[in-house]
Parts: sequence; C-alpha cells; structure tokens
Amino acid sequence: MSRYAGIEIGGTKVVIAFGSGPGDLSSPVRIPTTTPEATLAAIVDVIARELDAGGIDAIGVGSFGPVRVDPRASNYGHILRTPKAGWSGADLLVPLRAFGLPIALDTDVTTAALGEGTWGACSGLRDYAYVTVGTGVGVGLVVGGHPVHGRLHPEAGHLMVRRDPERDPFPGNCPFHADCLEGLISGPAIERRLGQPGATVAPDHPVWDLVADYLAQLAATLCYVVAPQRIVLGGGVGQNSHLIARVQTTLARQLGGYLPDFEGPAALASLVVAPALGDRSGVLGAVALAMRAHSARIADNVK
Ligand code: ADP
Ligand code: ZN
Repeated sequence: MSRYAGIEIGGTKVVIAFGSGPGDLSSPVRIPTTTPEATLAAIVDVIARELDAGGIDAIGVGSFGPVRVDPRASNYGHILRTPKAGWSGADLLVPLRAFGLPIALDTDVTTAALGEGTWGACSGLRDYAYVTVGTGVGVGLVVGGHPVHGRLHPEAGHLMVRRDPERDPFPGNCPFHADCLEGLISGPAIERRLGQPGATVAPDHPVWDLVADYLAQLAATLCYVVAPQRIVLGGGVGQNSHLIARVQTTLARQLGGYLPDFEGPAALASLVVAPALGDRSGVLGAVALAMRAHSARIADNVK
C-alpha cells in the first residue's frame, strides 16, 4: 500500500504525519516554526527517519503564504514577501527535492480544503471552500475539483467588508488595510478589540454578531463568485460551534432572496459547515496532495 508524507507549514508550527488517509495516519510530529534554515532542516530529519523506517511514495506540502504555487514559475516553492521575519524568499522545496520523490505544494488553506474534499465535509463535491479564522483569515478554494490559483493564490481573507462604524467602532488591525475581514475578525483582532483572548469570550457576547456579519459577507461573496456547494469554517475562532448557525442566518439575510438555491434552512445547513476532520484537515490535505503527485508521476510513466 502506498504511503505519503503530509507536511503542514504554519506560521507558528509545522505538523508532519505519514499514511494514506485518516484511517492509518501516524500521530503527527510537531516542530516549531523558527528560521527557515532550522525549520526546514528539522522537517528533512523527520522525513529521512521515516524513509529509513519504511517507504514513502510522495510528499505533500501545505504552507502559509504568500507562497509561489505555480510550478512553471522560476521561484516555485518560494515564500514571497512576508512580514514574517527571515522567511521572505525562503525556498521550501529545495531541501526536500534531495529525496527524489514526487512533491506537491499548495497553500495551507487550499490543502485543508483538499483534505476535507478527499475525506471530510466536502467528500464527493467538486466546488467548495475552506475558510480558516485563526491568527489570520485564509480561504482555500477548490472549483471543478481543482485548487484555484491565478497569478497568485486566493487572498480572500483580506476581503473588504462593509463595516458600520456606529455599530462597530473598532478600526481593524490589518497592517495593510485596517478594516478588511482579517483586520476585523482574526484571533488577534478580536483580542485587540475586547482586550481579552477570543477563547475567553462568552458565546452570548455581542462581538459574535459582528464576526458572523463579516463572515457572512465573505460567504455571500463566495456564493456570488463561485457558487460553492459547501463552505467549511475552521481555525481557532471559526470552530466556535455557535458561530456557524449565526453565519447561516446572517447570510440568508444578506443574500436577500436573490439566490434561492442557497437560502432555505436546509440549503444553508449544508452550505456552511464545520470541518469533519477537526484539526487534521491540513495535514490530511497534504497527504491528499502527495497522493495526487504520486498518481501524476505514475500517469507520466505510463505515457
Ligand atoms: P493558527 O491560525 O495560528 O493556525 P488557530 O487557528 O488556533 O491557529 O488561531 C489562533 C488564534 O485564534 C489566536 O489569536 C487565538 O486567540 C484565537 N482563538 C483560539 N481559540 C479560540 C476560540 N475558541 N475562540 C476565539 N478565538 C480563539
Ligand atoms: Zn488586510
């Protein structure tokens, strides 16, 4: 049976696991994200040890961004300009290429979307999004079964949302846009707004209505732009279970009867959902990416 390495490179930690799906995934190895040199060397060590112990057929990598995911680009696999100290220009793939295995790369959120699409809340679907609301806000999109990339990857976490300054005087904390979606609802934005970590905010606090309003604006935009079959809401903030129902009702109000396909209670309940893979969507998505790279290699050899 084939066995894959799934690597999720996050801003604060890296998670690595081996297997071929949720049923046989090894317990994840966690490495702190420090400098690119130290972090990538630690990843290479974990993979090398696993290779000694058994086989690996391909490697999948889901990374924080912005990252060049177009394999035709000369800087494929590089982190682009980032405020994260030391990481601008870091090449994620060169250290891994030494293993001679097929490697696939995508963003952390697209990878999480693929995980949910392969084994989780979006199994069997072709058009879906994974939205994470945590330290930042990210959106991974799969349309027609394929991850969506343009000149870059989607950056819909920075969507400009409508904010009523009377209802919500918090000006936002995005260093680029102030009150974009991320600047209004990320974990750090909620903490700055209230002076307490989001995890300690009671479910009946009025801030959740604001968070639901802004998230529903993102969901409405996704409906207008790609009409997805499902939107998975994950991340530390996103996984508050009371948030999903609020987003559903707010979304219905915002769509205003314009998209009947999306607006009935049953349609809303199946449109906005929690991740089925919990905190393993990303690392399992990286395994799914590796599987795709492996199949592509086999198909190449058969040609
Ligand atoms: P990351 O985005 O770094 O992968 P998380 O998705 O856990 O990690 O997001 C971390 C952020 O989410 C922190 O700002 C934290 O305060 C906030 N957070 C974590 N859990 C919750 C929660 N239950 N409710 C609200 N905010 C939370
Ligand atoms: Zn922004």
